[in-house]
Amino acid sequence: MAQGERELAGGEPLTRRALIGRGAAAFAAVSLIPAFRIEPAAAAAECAPPSGFPGSIELYQQAFTNWAQEIVVEPLWSCAPRNAAEVVKVVNWAMGAGYRVRPRGQMHGWSPLSVAPGMTCRSKVIMVDTSHLDRISLRSSRPPVIRAGAGALMEDFLDFASSRGFGVTAAPAPGDITIGGALAIDAHGTAIPAEGERRRDGHTFGTLSNLVTALTAVVWSRQSRRYELKRFERSDPRIGPLLAHVGRAFITSVEMRVGRDQNLRCVSYTDLTVDELFAKPSSAGPDTRTFDSYLKEAGRAEAIWYPFTTEVWLKVWSVSKSKPASSRKVDSPYNYSFSDNLSLEVSNATSQMLLGDPSLTPSFGQLQMNATKAGLASGDAYDLWGKSKNLQLYVRPSTLRVTANGYAVHCRRRDVQRVISEFTRYHQNHMDEYRARGSFPSNMPVEIRVTGLDHPAHSGVRGAAPVSLSAVRPRADRPEFGVAVWFDILTIPGTGDLDRFYRETENWIYRNYSSYALVRPEWSKGWGYGPQGAWSDPDMFERRIPASFRRKGARRGTWKSDVAGLDRLDPYRLFTSPLVRRIMPRT
Ligand SMILES: Cc1cc2nc3c(=O)[nH]c(=O)nc-3n(C[C@H](O)[C@H](O)[C@H](O)COP(=O)(O)OP(=O)(O)OC[C@H]3O[C@@H](n4cnc5c(N)ncnc54)[C@H](O)[C@@H]3O)c2cc1C
Repeated sequence: MAQGERELAGGEPLTRRALIGRGAAAFAAVSLIPAFRIEPAAAAAECAPPSGFPGSIELYQQAFTNWAQEIVVEPLWSCAPRNAAEVVKVVNWAMGAGYRVRPRGQMHGWSPLSVAPGMTCRSKVIMVDTSHLDRISLRSSRPPVIRAGAGALMEDFLDFASSRGFGVTAAPAPGDITIGGALAIDAHGTAIPAEGERRRDGHTFGTLSNLVTALTAVVWSRQSRRYELKRFERSDPRIGPLLAHVGRAFITSVEMRVGRDQNLRCVSYTDLTVDELFAKPSSAGPDTRTFDSYLKEAGRAEAIWYPFTTEVWLKVWSVSKSKPASSRKVDSPYNYSFSDNLSLEVSNATSQMLLGDPSLTPSFGQLQMNATKAGLASGDAYDLWGKSKNLQLYVRPSTLRVTANGYAVHCRRRDVQRVISEFTRYHQNHMDEYRARGSFPSNMPVEIRVTGLDHPAHSGVRGAAPVSLSAVRPRADRPEFGVAVWFDILTIPGTGDLDRFYRETENWIYRNYSSYALVRPEWSKGWGYGPQGAWSDPDMFERRIPASFRRKGARRGTWKSDVAGLDRLDPYRLFTSPLVRRIMPRT
């Protein structure tokens, strides 16, 4: 076997040609092996290596597959710098050679911010695996600030914090995403203050990007006429667009504020009906168990609503210093093994089954709900308690490979139930309309979470710059908007009518909420559903996104000037992909 070849199950040697011949599915399957790569000798036989690449840094080819396996790009020239200085070396080489540079985290996202389908090893793109930039250390203990390389995993970051008695109020559900990847898209969990709760020092109800106190990025120096490492403090206005740059920068390390850890309890409910939990505010009595009532009580909740089911899986987290008698103490994360312990084969078989016979969707929805109830019961997972990170991390890479759309709807705290009830009613009717025509465009659950907004003061830094491009950046002219409701509708990639269904949903969301709320897309998910599916609607790029960052009546918004700020830091636009260039055209 030649160098760089591996055996597929069937015994066929794993070469580039074999992969491409087998098509996207096989290609996706093997490229999910994290270590899978084609070493220089085998790679060069197919595609001339980029000339003049720094000899001290190993060059190889590696495939790129996004989470839902919708974006499967054949092996691209890649490298894994051992430190930030080597990243700078690669970037300066790329500038001279006319290459773009794409930092690569764990590829656990949906939107093609990194690469575009159709790229090949001949594309002038160098992928930079950040996994060696993984050091985590305590920068200061008063106030507590943790320094992390951008390639460090979220789970390692939270473990490090937890072992020193620190934590965050909310975090994204998966732990195997990189800090760099998470901050690029202002990653979030679910939390707003419960009734009477005050935000603790070092905590935010916004996104993780809002906890950054300083970061180091690779930026252009006009003096040296080279790309260099530069540290930006949170009080420097230039840091704003770097805090959540949507794929338009290269960050090598960050410093993040954390607070005293707060133990959490997480109670699952599976007996709440859609009618009750998502009731119209006007029809809800004082004892109705609405989503809002749980927010008042605990501030932290997530609804998982499987298709065509009348009951919802609601998780409610509450701050609880000591273990309630009925709770089970957990010492590690990922405590819902029934929902995220699937092999890729089982995941793919489920997809094939639903794509083959979409009419199974309603019964599959019910099956998922039944499996949830059974899994919670058999795993003794209805009522859990422990350190925050053990309750905040609950999605493993071995969960179903689905695609999702995503939006953040800013609103007044008192409008949360209205926002949720309107959305869920619309979704239910929408699904029923399609069902009547024999179509089932969404076969996976709807997820609903609620967070606060990114108030810069939460970072604890005086004069902190805003998280300029955050989906939950507050709008100065809408001070009454205190929270954001995040909606995701999940489905299996390739499901019939998916794009049309998502497009109708998106248009409804923008139309419905325009009178009393504000909508922005969730960067890592699907949005901008146009003629070519997600991320193709010109109106989203040209009007909806920039307008959402513009004060009413103002001629110019902040979007353009913040994008211009990123252009100044990278005038050669090395850190862009086709989608990033569409989101942020040259200013
Ligand atoms: C199952 C699942 C559940 C999820 N749950 C949540 C959730 O609860 N909350 C949430 O907010 N998100 C969630 N996400 C989305 C996830 O947080 C984002 O997709 C995140 O970007 C993934 O990080 P990654 O390391 O895989 O980055 P990648 O997918 O590899 O990269 C994402 C983007 O970040 C850029 N990037 C990566 N590293 C750097 C760097 N060092 N400097 C600059 N840019 C960089 C890449 O170029 C790319 O543009 C979920 C995703 C999955 C698959």
